[in-house]
Amino acid sequence: MSVSSSSAEQQKRSLYDQTLFHTYLDRQIRIPDWNQDVISQQTCLVLGLGGLGSTVSIDLLRLGVKKMICVDYDHVETHNLNRQLLYNKSHVGQSKAHTAKIILEEQNICGTEIECHELDVIKHWDRIVEYARQCTVVFNMIDVGDYWDYAVQSLCLRLGLTFVSGGTFQTTVTVDYVHAKSRGACWSCMSDIKSDHLDRLSVDRIEQLKDLEFIPREEHPIGASTCYLAAMCAHLMVNRFVYGLQLSSSSLSSSTSNSTDQTNNEQQEQEQEQEQQELIDSLPNRIMFYLNTLEIDKWTLEKSSHCPLCCSLSVSTTTTSTASTANEQ
Ligand SMILES: [Zn+2]
Repeated sequence: MSVSSSSAEQQKRSLYDQTLFHTYLDRQIRIPDWNQDVISQQTCLVLGLGGLGSTVSIDLLRLGVKKMICVDYDHVETHNLNRQLLYNKSHVGQSKAHTAKIILEEQNICGTEIECHELDVIKHWDRIVEYARQCTVVFNMIDVGDYWDYAVQSLCLRLGLTFVSGGTFQTTVTVDYVHAKSRGACWSCMSDIKSDHLDRLSVDRIEQLKDLEFIPREEHPIGASTCYLAAMCAHLMVNRFVYGLQLSSSSLSSSTSNSTDQTNNEQQEQEQEQEQQELIDSLPNRIMFYLNTLEIDKWTLEKSSHCPLCCSLSVSTTTTSTASTANEQ
């Protein structure tokens, strides 16, 4: 069952008063090199409206993205309320997707189009594919295990989308991030996942699958997390997305030159593109933040020549180097 913004609400965005828009976002557009235009063009797939998804969806709204497509199958439970900031005691027993739609609309300062779907993602993978085709980024916050993460990364590579995944455990935050244009490691390069099922989740086949009922379910211990741990992980996920977006749009916005020499312009553009690509490739793929000690570990990993996802991509974007860890702490 789906809840979509009405056409009247969609129209509201196009008629949105620009002065008002800039009043709401005044403090963020003052940040040097901030590119609001590129943020305002983003359509984001938010998979999961729990501890991470609550804060990620609120962040994206208040940043002023164009559209959010949110998915969750669960109902609000009492033990969610310590950290899932979209819900309160009156929501216990209600659908997270339906509740989130109401709460998010109350916070919708920029006229973002909001869709919230109550959906079993394993049974209805084809719907996830359909939503992802409309998006520029996927925030993966559904805890179904490594095979699920592998499938989502495979879909992102297939469609050229940025992949952001997060997790919390006790006092540690983990964020995995793969920019759409990165020539570095994908999520699969960073994992040691091995199974006969991976063939069916390949980049070539992932769009055609109707469901993911065949993937093994993994038993997880009951989560241990606080509101600040979940919120910090979510904020870090959104920060990685926004920073990567600003990097990949920076040279494009400054590529207009007054020079009349076309050759010089082309050369300049090529140099800028190369510089931009190197910046994107240098972004950390995995970040671990240990809250109690305030230590951060981050790794920028190269593609693995053994990665079943990367290996299936075009030769031009595949390097022959093996995965290596470069701790940049
Ligand atoms: Zn890979």
